[in-house]
Amino acid sequence: MSVTVTGCELCETPGGEVLHQGAQFRVVLVDDASYPGFCRVIWRDHVKEMTDLPELDRMLLMDVLWQVEQVVRDVMQPEKINLASFGTMVPHLHWHVIPRYTDDPHFPAPVWASSQRPAQQASLQVRRERLDALRAKMRQRLATYL
Ligand SMILES: [Zn+2]
Repeated sequence: MSVTVTGCELCETPGGEVLHQGAQFRVVLVDDASYPGFCRVIWRDHVKEMTDLPELDRMLLMDVLWQVEQVVRDVMQPEKINLASFGTMVPHLHWHVIPRYTDDPHFPAPVWASSQRPAQQASLQVRRERLDALRAKMRQRLATYL
């Protein structure tokens, strides 16, 4: 049985395009025009902190996070990966996996900081063209994670 909280965005909505649905977690592609390839790993249950998870669940979530990072790196070819877990606005355990590029609007600051430059449309187009490969490789990589 899953633990859900009424009014929680991540309990009530997928939080993005679902690339993989496991029994205890899902991986979604975030619809962010400036950051194609931005993925999230979202725990199924409404759990607040990593240390609220039993150790084996925590290890599973970390393992999945590294798998997702690897696929995003391989396909999106970023300058850097940002991993982040805040949960202050939505206290439901989730990790952001964000491909970063030197010409993205916020580099080298976090994507939540003030924008430093306009998005480069030609670069965005190249990145958007990789999304189908990202979808396919993510599904393939996570297929054994039930
Ligand atoms: Zn929730």
